[in-house]
This record gives sequence, C-alpha cells and structure tokens, in this order.
Amino acid sequence: MAETVPASKRAPSRAKAAAAKAPAKGKAKSAVAKAVRAKAETAAPPIPYSADEIAEIFRRFAVQRPHPTSELEHVNTFTLLVAVVLSAQMTDAGVNRATRGLFARASTPAAMAALGEDEIREAIRSVGFFRTKAKNVQRLSEILRDEFAGEVPHDRASLEKLPGVGRKTANVIMNTAFGEETLAVDTHILRIGNRLKIAPGKTPEAVEAGFLRIIPDGFLRHAHHWLILHGRFVCKARKPDCEHCVIADLCRADEKWCETPAPLVALPDAPPGPQPLPPGAKRPGG
Ligand code: SF4
Repeated sequence: MAETVPASKRAPSRAKAAAAKAPAKGKAKSAVAKAVRAKAETAAPPIPYSADEIAEIFRRFAVQRPHPTSELEHVNTFTLLVAVVLSAQMTDAGVNRATRGLFARASTPAAMAALGEDEIREAIRSVGFFRTKAKNVQRLSEILRDEFAGEVPHDRASLEKLPGVGRKTANVIMNTAFGEETLAVDTHILRIGNRLKIAPGKTPEAVEAGFLRIIPDGFLRHAHHWLILHGRFVCKARKPDCEHCVIADLCRADEKWCETPAPLVALPDAPPGPQPLPPGAKRPGG
C-alpha cells in the first residue's frame, strides 16, 4: 500500500534523479515556471501517492512520448493561436478539417486580417460558434498586425487581452509555442486530476495548481501534452482503457479495472497534428 504524503513534500532523491535524465529543455528554470510554481505552493491536500510514485508516473510518460506536441495542425505560432481559439467546444480533428483550407489562404496576422471576417466565417462554418470565433480571429489578427508587428506576444498578460484568448489558450501558446513550463487544463486533464486523485479540484485552476505542485522538476515542459494524450487515448471519459495504460500499477482511480501496466513503448515523434497511439489503444470514434 502506498504511503500517503502531503503533496507539498515533493522532489525526493528519486524524483531528482529522474529529472536529471529528462531533456535539458524540461528543467524548471524559466521565470514563468517559477511564478506558477510559487503560486501553487499553497496548502496542499493530501493525495494517495508517494513522491517516488509521482516521479515514476511522469518518467513513464516521458519514455513513452519523448517529444509530444499538439494535435492541432499549425505551421507557426500565429496559426497555433488561431487553432486554439477555434478549438473551444470542438475536437482537434474538427478544427483541423476547417483550418487546413483557412491556413492555406492566410497564415499570418496581416493575411488573416486582409481575408476579412466574412471569408473567415465561411472557412470555419463547420466549427461550433463559428460566428463569434470568426469575429475574434479577425480582431486578434488586426491587433497582432497593428500593435505587435505581426508577432504573437510571448507573455501571458498580452495574450489574455486578445479576443477569444483566456488563461487556457494563453497556457497552450506559452507551452507549445514558447516552450514555457505551463499547464493548460482541458477536459482530459481535469478528469485525470480527479479520477486518479493525483491533482483533485473542482475548477481548472485548482487542478492546474495541484499538478504544478506535484510534477517533479524536469517534467513540466511536456506534462501538458502527456496528460491530454493519455486522457484522449487511454484514460477515456466513458471507460478508461486500463489494459493499455502504462501506469496501471501505480494508478489509484476507483474506476481502474486492470493492475498490470502495459509495456512501456517509446512512440515515434510526429509533427503537429494526429499523434501516435500506444500499442492496442484506439482513437475515440475510430
Ligand atoms: S489505470 Fe485506468 S484509470 Fe488509471 S490512469 Fe490508467 S487508464 Fe486511467
């Protein structure tokens, strides 16, 4: 039976050792990482995992997906931003179907602004809330063109001022485009935090703080994509696919139905867009 320890007692020797093996890029050294971690260092509820077990969970995710990325197709930071703005209440596959044509016509703020709201709306008609999203994309393109020299700003405050951009979108951009150690809590990460009792919380902010508190140094850079892809392909909403889960022996979820971890296989790197699945796992709807 695992020792139950306060989550704040993290970073034991094994975690540090594991962190030392992680890619150098993943070390918690950025100002953003320090800031978010400092904010997360509040009173932590106890969780049913030892610090060694948490380090082992993230070590396995790192072995399985050394260089994960977004399933939203994009060709630069601007198109990633547009894709994330369009992704609210949508699957990534649905967004990709709409953006392939849109990004072929406009992949910079100036080109998108020149395209105009009507054209953008027609291009993304298959996307939920397309009218509001088209307006936001048009307006944020104008702002980036006129106030940021056509560049996406590398700071949270400026990002969150853009139309249609909230904390979650800003976190995705900071992490995926700029390599910052941020965690954007979507429906999958919210579920994993609570189902596994590893970062419980009623709100995305609470779950984000919980994960930032426990993720060992060296693993935060890619934790966002590891958790999303694990939730999307394995720890699924309706029924978790525990048979194909590499952390089944460590997991404390009540819904867990298999104790044996799946073989730890390093999956190949893939460009932005559909990411590879663990052996035996099935893509939802596929
Ligand atoms: S063992 Fe099952 S419930 Fe636990 S993380 Fe894996 S898929 Fe999810």
